Amino acid sequence: MNIEQQINQLREELRQHNYNYYVLDAATISDYEFDMKLKELQALEESHPEFYDANSPTLRVGGEVTKNFDTVVHEYRMYSLDNSYSKEDLLDWETRIKKMVDGDVSYTCELKYDGASISLTYENGELLRAVTRGDGIQGDDVTTNVKTIKSVPLKLKGDYPPKFDIRGEIVLPYEGFAKMNQERIAAGEEPYANPRNTASGSLKLQDSSETAKRPLDCLLYNLVGDRLGISTQYESLEKARKWGFKVPQESHLAKSVDEVLEFVNLWDHKRRELPYETDGVVIKVNDLQQQEELGFTAKAPRWAMAYKFKAEQAVTRLNEITYQVGRTGAITPVANLEPVQLAGTTVKRASLHNADQIEKLDIREEDIVFVEKGGEIIPKIVGVDFTKRDKDSGPTQYITSCPECDTELIRKEGEAQHYCPNFQGCPPQIIGRIQHYISRKALDIEGLGGETVALLVKERLISNYADLYDLKKEQVIPLERMAEKSADNLIEGIEKSKDIPFERVLFGLGIRYVGETVAKKLARHYKSISAIIAATEEDLVNVDEIGIKIAQSVREFFDSEPNRLLVDRLIQFGVQLEISADKLANQTDTLNGQIFVVSGVFAKVSRTELKKLIEDNGGKVSSSISSKTTYVVAGENMGPSKLEKANKLGITIISEDDFLNLI
Ligand code: AMP
Ligand code: ZN
Repeated sequence: MNIEQQINQLREELRQHNYNYYVLDAATISDYEFDMKLKELQALEESHPEFYDANSPTLRVGGEVTKNFDTVVHEYRMYSLDNSYSKEDLLDWETRIKKMVDGDVSYTCELKYDGASISLTYENGELLRAVTRGDGIQGDDVTTNVKTIKSVPLKLKGDYPPKFDIRGEIVLPYEGFAKMNQERIAAGEEPYANPRNTASGSLKLQDSSETAKRPLDCLLYNLVGDRLGISTQYESLEKARKWGFKVPQESHLAKSVDEVLEFVNLWDHKRRELPYETDGVVIKVNDLQQQEELGFTAKAPRWAMAYKFKAEQAVTRLNEITYQVGRTGAITPVANLEPVQLAGTTVKRASLHNADQIEKLDIREEDIVFVEKGGEIIPKIVGVDFTKRDKDSGPTQYITSCPECDTELIRKEGEAQHYCPNFQGCPPQIIGRIQHYISRKALDIEGLGGETVALLVKERLISNYADLYDLKKEQVIPLERMAEKSADNLIEGIEKSKDIPFERVLFGLGIRYVGETVAKKLARHYKSISAIIAATEEDLVNVDEIGIKIAQSVREFFDSEPNRLLVDRLIQFGVQLEISADKLANQTDTLNGQIFVVSGVFAKVSRTELKKLIEDNGGKVSSSISSKTTYVVAGENMGPSKLEKANKLGITIISEDDFLNLI
């Protein structure tokens, strides 16, 4: 291959990876590998300027703008950053800088947060717009979604400039990410892969109330604008913090490359204590005057440099691939590894996701594999050391039948996961469903834990959640570790679960895709299980926010004879399978079809109560005013921008008393 072909191939490869990464949100190589390829291309292009291409991946920042959010051209371009990986890289950079500016150079060191970059525009102290990076020149207007992020100030304090942009990162802290995934798993959905992609996906959700539910955070670090009255980067961080922005505290002023490296080494370890993911350090020339003199290349500022932490990788042997069966029957392949140290923990297992993933990376038992721990909670295998592979080995044969019950697996069109269809007879599914039924957000059965459920199933005392209500104290006392007292608690806990409201029972049934929120919607809409059972797919789709996937899943569940039998038994035992009479008495259809926006502080009821009253009476609460809004209920201190918008659109503004009269 000659140089030109080499360059073109790299460009093509990088373009594809860019597309996978930025447009599809599904990277197929690690950031480190990508950066290495990019560096390789940069070097080739530099030594062969005759092959210049204005569309080279080295000259652009990222993906294309796709979704139907409004496109906004950035007033100041959003650049990418050049990357460095060693002290030599940094010293080279410093030499280049010192040729271009006079005097001493000092640096601010900041952590490089791994999230979705965002540019916020403020005018007269109010948030005007939030735009994603997009391709750096123009991005998507995601203001409505960003406004739901609690750490983004909607109004500023102090002596801020009249107009400026501030840039930073929208991140999803590990804890909130893990919680979201637990909820998805509980609803029988596939968990999200990592916090970064989930954060950026969250900004593009159509429904901003969905974004609001996600524990996103916004970290800011860069002010842009004219005449801001600031002379250094460090000062700008301090000022922005004072105006009410969440500016990370970890930034540090360094006088030399050695001091920069001290900061890098410190945080390479300490970052593990942070609540969110970081993937390096960003080093910026502190003096803004010097920054201006240095300017930008086609891709990045000359005054800044990223120093990437090495993604933590380990090499180990894959001993065996085993398969787990979830409560919905979904099969997850798991790599059982020779234990190895990685990022401070011993890793024995890694997720292999699904059959496609195994095939794509050509992973086989007894391979020597590379394991990485990025934002994911569970480490993943990123590649195989093919030089160490046994010549006699063959491609992994994915299982065709369930490892637990031997039933032939199915794979639905368009789905990545295989399923065991033996809903009624497959032990981990049986146990998983009962464990879900008793979990805190469902029937919350005190005195009964997951292990006891497994034991009860093993002893053949129960085989579904309705059987719980037939359990007798005498049956459980002989069980291992079961004392008189704990047996009493167990029976009592089961009895008490009969008071749990319908919506939580509905969630507890474990219908695929029916999570907490969907269960609540369905319960409020249909009011009883018999009404849901009678609903057709078309009826279901007509319910607010119920899509075809959920509707089909609900139908499939209740079309099954054994499931309907289970429900009948629950009804006979006295479990709440309709909205209770006194609750129903507080609910009307008075506000059906009406959309309310609530703003300000109220005297007679709290905001939460007010919203509940709206929903209980059939109305809908929305967080932003649009032409679809029926009424704005205004309390004291209603926001001026809301007032203006309501007036502009001619929406009727009513008081708290007016509202109470309505119902
Ligand atoms: P890259 O996407 O690897 O070219 O890196 C550039 C991106 O790093 C920027 O667009 C920012 O979104 C992100 N970034 C994270 N932390 C910082 C920081 N402290 N300063 C500047 N950029 C940052
Ligand atoms: Zn099975």
